[in-house]
Amino acid sequence: MIYQKYGNTDANVSAVGFGGMRFDESKSKAENAELLLYAHSKGINYFDTAPSYCGDTSEDIFGIALKQMADRRDDFYVSTKGMPTAIDTAGKARAAVEKSLKRLNVDKIDFYHVWCVRRIDHYESAMKSGGMYEGLLRCKEQGLIDHIAISTHLPGGQVAQIVEKREFDGVLLGVNALNFPYRWEGVQAAHAAGLGVVAMNPLSGGLIPRHEAKFGFLTDGQETATEAALRFCINCPQITVTLVGVTRKEHIDTACNVAQAAQPFTDDDLERVRTRVSDNMNALCTGCGYCLKCCPQNIPIANYMQVYNEKPLFGRSKMEMVMKIGSNYQWGLLVDRRANAGDCIECGQCEEACTQHLNIIERLKEIDAWERMLNWKLTRLAHFAFRALRKLRSRLR
Ligand code: SF4
Ligand code: SF4
Repeated sequence: MIYQKYGNTDANVSAVGFGGMRFDESKSKAENAELLLYAHSKGINYFDTAPSYCGDTSEDIFGIALKQMADRRDDFYVSTKGMPTAIDTAGKARAAVEKSLKRLNVDKIDFYHVWCVRRIDHYESAMKSGGMYEGLLRCKEQGLIDHIAISTHLPGGQVAQIVEKREFDGVLLGVNALNFPYRWEGVQAAHAAGLGVVAMNPLSGGLIPRHEAKFGFLTDGQETATEAALRFCINCPQITVTLVGVTRKEHIDTACNVAQAAQPFTDDDLERVRTRVSDNMNALCTGCGYCLKCCPQNIPIANYMQVYNEKPLFGRSKMEMVMKIGSNYQWGLLVDRRANAGDCIECGQCEEACTQHLNIIERLKEIDAWERMLNWKLTRLAHFAFRALRKLRSRLR
């Protein structure tokens, strides 16, 4: 395992961080907690969670494991988060920190993040007088938290403006081998300003493992596309910690093996990748789920957007997308839908919530057209089948 200083702090953190956002919810909390203990035994010492991850169970799972690791408290770092959209006063920040401390079974949170800053006014709200940041500073003075960081999905230029103010010890960013040309400015600015840089989403929400062949251009020929994408972040000199969402022990093993090999992308590698990733690859749904609860029409937005990914990823034609929608109706992501794309009333709440800033409303309009075409085809098919049946019957009479 590689260890390095988290920005200008004294924390010596592992290059691989445990991401507590992908537990298998069909398993018990105790079973999932075993994964943290295993990760720690493999040298991982940075553990990241948040309230609401995994149906609001992630902090509890951490709490079970961290209690068992209490005798090694100096050997690991705990990170959690609070959203400025909900925590709008210093008092609420204190209450949120106390709640997380209790659930996590620790006396101190090492890294507390102002979480999910998608727009600049989220940041401004956190920093206002009497707001979240002020509350976190007080918690820090009282020893309840050690470091304040920011977790953001803002464009690189805006990240650069924020980190230059030196209000935070670190920054958590969604950066990976597919979107780095668009996110790199933020990573470089944070690193140059002496902040710890934590990368989330190194596998683009599971897209890379699901499409190994498509992303073969990431590899040097000696590794899988998944391993290459992990290597891109884990061995990047400007990235301090790479969060790997853990569902199974193998996820930990793969990431640790990559960290062991310690081979950063060369300039040639970066150039090879840069020429292959298009603008479209920054506009993919990562399945992060931040839009899940916001639709008044109950449209399964994340599912629709993941089906839509096929268009920019593989350059699918209109007819191919119609067939894709059809197959997803039968046994894919759209089997259980309670509403269709055409039910969108364009309220905009999903676009507000989307960490990838996707133009969801426009995409749903496109999907609606595909769904109509599919329904027309199905109706025609039923019509022909009915006529053929009628002919057959009259012949048999
Ligand atoms: S814009 Fe459409 S899809 Fe998005 S939340 Fe509103 S109704 Fe739902
Ligand atoms: S549509 Fe946006 S918010 Fe929803 S899952 Fe996809 S990337 Fe996340």
